Amino acid sequence: MAEVLPQQFLVDIKSILDELADSVVVDVEFPLEPLVIGTESFVPVSRARVEVTVTYTGTGQVVALGRVEVDVSTHCSRCLTEFTMTASGDVEGFYVKPGHDDEIPEEQEVEFITDRSIDILPAIRSALILELPFAPLHDESCPGICLTCGADLADGACDCEPVRADSPFAALQGLVAESDDTA
Ligand SMILES: [Zn+2]
Ligand SMILES: [Zn+2]
Repeated sequence: MAEVLPQQFLVDIKSILDELADSVVVDVEFPLEPLVIGTESFVPVSRARVEVTVTYTGTGQVVALGRVEVDVSTHCSRCLTEFTMTASGDVEGFYVKPGHDDEIPEEQEVEFITDRSIDILPAIRSALILELPFAPLHDESCPGICLTCGADLADGACDCEPVRADSPFAALQGLVAESDDTA
């Protein structure tokens, strides 16, 4: 049966809201929805392992800092092989009580503290998305597939003639090489 994926992960911060610099450590594992970057999708195959310290910094503000790690399944952008990789990132979440957000710089992304709890799921997803590759490779040296016959060049060279410089395919090959560089 498919597991119901949480749409938020609430941390109760009642216990830290009275004392400046009080903190609570959140050490949990929970399932995540797939992460999508451009046309690539990364499907979690493990629970997200999260370790975050939530600290009250005074004047109605709370920060959540820590790490997240999850194993995801994706496809190699060169040869389309499905493979699993570990994604990890630094979690940085800022939360304010409603009415205390006027001192916060505009560029700072903040979430609100509601009912004395905070939702750390958006910060966890952002941390992973920031670190995931735009063009995942199943192996740094993946030779990709032949543009003519589609053979997986990791299995050895195919019988196709190398693309000649005056062929219309040469331009296409140049384009593919270029988009690989910008990855
Ligand atoms: Zn590959
Ligand atoms: Zn070929």
